Amino acid sequence: MKVVFWGIRGSGAAVGKEYEEYGGNTSCVSAEWGNHLIIFDAGTGISKLGESLVRRGFTGEIHLFLSHFHLDHICGLPLFGPAFSSKVRIHIYGNTTDPGGLKGCVSRVLSPPYWPVAPDCYGARMVWHDLKPGKQGQAEVMEDKDSTAAWMVKALPSAHPNGGLIYRLEAAGRSVVYGLDCELPEEFWEIYRDFACGADLLIFDAAYSEEEYPKVKGFGHATWQQGVAMARHTGAVRTVFAHHRRERTDKELEALNQIVLGQEPKMCFGKEGMEILLQEA
Ligand SMILES: [Zn+2]
Ligand SMILES: [Zn+2]
Repeated sequence: MKVVFWGIRGSGAAVGKEYEEYGGNTSCVSAEWGNHLIIFDAGTGISKLGESLVRRGFTGEIHLFLSHFHLDHICGLPLFGPAFSSKVRIHIYGNTTDPGGLKGCVSRVLSPPYWPVAPDCYGARMVWHDLKPGKQGQAEVMEDKDSTAAWMVKALPSAHPNGGLIYRLEAAGRSVVYGLDCELPEEFWEIYRDFACGADLLIFDAAYSEEEYPKVKGFGHATWQQGVAMARHTGAVRTVFAHHRRERTDKELEALNQIVLGQEPKMCFGKEGMEILLQEA
């Protein structure tokens, strides 16, 4: 399974020389194995992923899991190249209390006058999957058992303003936890740990540092120090920190990265374009 980081910024894109090394696009991560493609979030990073899929003539099924609907996680969707192809079917998953459901929630933002083209007007067929997870601590399971390479995605309600989901993908004998936009209040610690336990790759929301946290408590993001502790607690094989603050420069991120690497060689601050290969078990 190949996991690629197409966008690692949080809240908004960052443009400028001082952000080029770590990258300025917002959340998007893909996981691909065999002919399967799963995408987590449609931030501005999904545009580059789309370009690469179009370039190689991708056709078939795409499964896009949205963590939530804050703009930094959906604003890349109308620029996703494969959405214009009739040879592509895009399954979109998410959870909302919007009376219009998932489709209504996304369409409201991605339709005139906010955007000239509504989701129904794209070439690709979009299939909307409204997820209904239970209360915190319970996870919803989606499975694709019919195909040759079966996969499963579990969802857990996150600790984030307006709600959200974190996901766990199990496929090809490997597991990836996508845990962005999730604060870690004390009462949520064990729930998160059980959900992420033993992951081969943990993608952790490390927007803040412990020193910054008191001023941003309740904003819905964790700290990199909590990430180090959670990675050890879950026994994650590798951990990548993401949802970097928009204003963090390459220099600042590299300084944090060196501190983390000094403690744990299997953890790092994610960079846009980074690829991680998880060998089939
Ligand atoms: Zn975000
Ligand atoms: Zn958010």
